Amino acid sequence: MPLLPLTHLLCPIDQSELQQDGNTWRCQNNHCFDIAKQGHVNLLPVQNKKSLDPGDSKEMIAARRDFLNSGAYQPLAQALASTIETLAQGNHQLAILDAGCGEGYYLNSVCESLLAQDIALTATGLDISKWAVRSCKIRNPQLNGLVASNRQIPLPDQSQDILLCTFGFPVYSEFKRVLKPGGHIVMADPGPEHLIELRSAIYETVRRNPPTDVSAALDANWQLSHSQAVQFTTEPLTAAQFEQLLVMTPHLYRASREGRDRVAKLQDIAVTGDVLIRVISHLGN
Ligand SMILES: [Zn+2]
Repeated sequence: MPLLPLTHLLCPIDQSELQQDGNTWRCQNNHCFDIAKQGHVNLLPVQNKKSLDPGDSKEMIAARRDFLNSGAYQPLAQALASTIETLAQGNHQLAILDAGCGEGYYLNSVCESLLAQDIALTATGLDISKWAVRSCKIRNPQLNGLVASNRQIPLPDQSQDILLCTFGFPVYSEFKRVLKPGGHIVMADPGPEHLIELRSAIYETVRRNPPTDVSAALDANWQLSHSQAVQFTTEPLTAAQFEQLLVMTPHLYRASREGRDRVAKLQDIAVTGDVLIRVISHLGN
């Protein structure tokens, strides 16, 4: 079964419906957004950009793509796919949004498993980085790609069944707005032991922080319905993979020069993955 194209988008400037007109999406007030050569749409208005090239850079996205393509995080991709497969049970069609999709590795893997269940799927990757969305479209041209912010998701109210937020920046009010009654937010966040080998090389003192608190997302209608720690050990990583790992994580900016030098000497060491998957579900129907 093929992936389906998006049919409804909102103008990021006035929130009116956009209509597709050839290679452009246009609203009633004549705000226009061109479809890129790779097929994604940039819906980040210039006035909402904090920098000319917001989000992950071309180099960060390439590092992430190469690292993930090696299969090092496959246990996490599998766990996410099986969590979402369970949520999707009984559905014949489904709209899924990856809010902060990066270069699309997790979304694509989730889609592969859902398509094998014979579900008609509209899958959308959204990221503030144009390089991320472009890379996501190259990974799988059938995924819908939106350059936009989680603070203002250009999709209609109650249009999505499942929203994935992997190592991302959740904006729960927006997430809840775009989800249908009975919808689910699937979060993946680092646990205390995540990449402990990398962090031990970078920092003098390593903090084992608990995963981010999701209690701000919970209320009478939205409850934590599933929580699962995914723990795994990668194959021994090459020096190039340690470099990719450093570039794709926030540690690149936090590391001192000495810390980065220590990472540059790492190789043939396996690293620990420790990720908490949580599902926050809407109780209504
Ligand atoms: Zn408009």
